[in-house]
Amino acid sequence: MTQPIRRILALTGGVGGAKLALGLANTLNPGQVTFVVNTGDDFEHLGLRICPDIDTLLYTLSNEANPDTGWGRRNETWHCLEALGQLGGETWFRLGDRDLATHLIRTTALTAGASLTTVTQRLSERLGIQHPVLPMCDQNVATMIGSTAGEMAFQHYFVRERCAPNVTGFRFQGSEQATLSPALQELLTAPDLDGILICPSNPFLSVDPILAVPGMRAALKAARAPVVAISPIIQGAAIKGPTAKIMAELGLPQDALAVARHYGDLLDGFILDSHDASLLEDVRGSGLDAIATPTLMLTLQDKMNLAKVAVDFVNEITTSNTP
Ligand code: GDP
Repeated sequence: MTQPIRRILALTGGVGGAKLALGLANTLNPGQVTFVVNTGDDFEHLGLRICPDIDTLLYTLSNEANPDTGWGRRNETWHCLEALGQLGGETWFRLGDRDLATHLIRTTALTAGASLTTVTQRLSERLGIQHPVLPMCDQNVATMIGSTAGEMAFQHYFVRERCAPNVTGFRFQGSEQATLSPALQELLTAPDLDGILICPSNPFLSVDPILAVPGMRAALKAARAPVVAISPIIQGAAIKGPTAKIMAELGLPQDALAVARHYGDLLDGFILDSHDASLLEDVRGSGLDAIATPTLMLTLQDKMNLAKVAVDFVNEITTSNTP
């Protein structure tokens, strides 16, 4: 007999991860799941500190996400951006008027000395979010993209160059100085932590920066709770974004098995899409528990279904590992 899950930690990036996060938030109560978010995409722009993955998650959990763009806030207007363009300012990174309020509040608080963890908590509260959202660390870490066109900052690659350059590798600038925040340390060693989920986010751009925080990988491995990843690749393709393109450029097979191998011995379990069930034996052959289930999340019900399957799977692994 499995016991109800006590606490889960879910590592997430932006859009793909936030879909499962919404499913988890609608399935588990606020004491049962904490989200740990990539901040390697964060950057300074127009004097503001922008945290794209944190904001994607906050807007998604508060039903503020813009369904038309897939990023930013709903019911957005663009007066500031238009005026910026008129005055010769930079407009390649599109900041809406309502979204700007988030960056203004965050930047002001950070400048006054608050930590990113505290600022994120305040923004969450104001947006009515009940489930805890933690940045991966409080220090600035910047994902740098190595490419055949030279090294470039994440947003230059992702937004300005639209992921066109051929990727050769990644560097997480500043990660050596990063530390696990007290909130994360407490969570990672909590006796009631029953599972760690790696959401279907980009493994290279969204999850690896989290794992690069010194102590993170070791703490995840040391946790009694099993670590389970959900594949962001279905039938050899990404639903959105450059995951599959990057895999090809790095000389990796473009399939869910390669994602499982990428995470390597960090994982105890892996969830792949039903369409990829033929890969189950190979994944199991690498020593992991694995299941195949529908992982394409179009509706809220899809997100909740996958969340429930993932939590049940974690629970089964925990139960079968407990003597
Ligand atoms: P980003 O930072 O906004 O690019 O978002 P993430 O890194 O969190 O997510 C990008 C990944 O999410 C891509 O590899 C997509 O294939 C994956 N993804 C998006 N939607 C889905 C979905 O519905 N199901 C699965 N399995 N993966 C998805």
